[in-house]
Amino acid sequence: MKAVYVEAPGSFRITERPEPAPGAGEAVMRIVHAGICASDVGVVEGHNPIAAYPLTLGHECVGVVEEVPPDGSLRKGDWATVYPSVGCGTCPACEAGRINHCPTFRVLGISHDRGVFAERIAVPAAQLLPVPDGLRGRNGALIEPTAVAVHVNRRAGTVAGQRVVVIGCGVIGTLVAQAARAYGAADVVAVDRMEARRDLLSKLGFERFVLADGAPLVERLREEGGPADVVFDTVCTGETIDAALEALSPGGRLVLVAAPRGAHEIPLGYAKVYRRELSLIASRNYVPDDFLEAMGLLDSGGVEAAPLITGIWPLDRFAEAYAELLAKPERHAKILLEP
Ligand SMILES: [Zn+2]
Ligand SMILES: [Zn+2]
Repeated sequence: MKAVYVEAPGSFRITERPEPAPGAGEAVMRIVHAGICASDVGVVEGHNPIAAYPLTLGHECVGVVEEVPPDGSLRKGDWATVYPSVGCGTCPACEAGRINHCPTFRVLGISHDRGVFAERIAVPAAQLLPVPDGLRGRNGALIEPTAVAVHVNRRAGTVAGQRVVVIGCGVIGTLVAQAARAYGAADVVAVDRMEARRDLLSKLGFERFVLADGAPLVERLREEGGPADVVFDTVCTGETIDAALEALSPGGRLVLVAAPRGAHEIPLGYAKVYRRELSLIASRNYVPDDFLEAMGLLDSGGVEAAPLITGIWPLDRFAEAYAELLAKPERHAKILLEP
């Protein structure tokens, strides 16, 4: 079968791989739609600090179950998505349902070789989650990034009635903004350095947009109604974190969403945090319940996926899709692959 295979940082091949051979307790799913994610780019380029090579790339997908182990609840023909994080299953974090804190935490297609940019995958049946009818199609490929956005909002505590700012409005930022609105945020201001994002956000019903053009963010936000109770930073450079700290009102919360790049450390404006009693909250990956919640939000329309899908390529033309995503970031949010 065809798959996108990354042997080492810096390159990938679209190549023939052996058909998956399911072990005990494993199911086989045919991939129907898969999404290219910024973390996939990090794996290919070699700046994702948890990447492990060689591997088949990809972790966002929806598909149809083809083979199931005996005695499971999953049925042949079910549409399902993959819960791509893998823990040891026995440590205190795994037992508490927090796989993202397992010492051996791995993600399919990033730090585990069974990625979803392939015609089929075999995974433990418990990692396939049946999807509601409304997500049997392209929107289902957005369940995984929506689960990220759910986790991010849950990490923030309640956002109901709060003034929220989202820095960086790519796929994750626009999903975080939509989830915050679904959870009752009083106001959501979106910040991005690409003017083209204004249209995407407007399609999604967000009219407050701040173009990050180098002017102090705090001043721009003043024009948009004042400081924020919660800032979600999906970029997490020294510059955006500093701007976020400035933009928060006393007692405000900064939620740090982006994974660190390489071994680079970011200096922190501690005096700003201390004087206004700000809270710094990191959000990493998700837990299984975030997937169920994400499916509910997408299925009810509380979060819309379709406007984020800006390109669809056949799997065997991954190279073109990848080049397009890198060359035209202003034109694209989520590009899907179809085997
Ligand atoms: Zn992803
Ligand atoms: Zn564990």
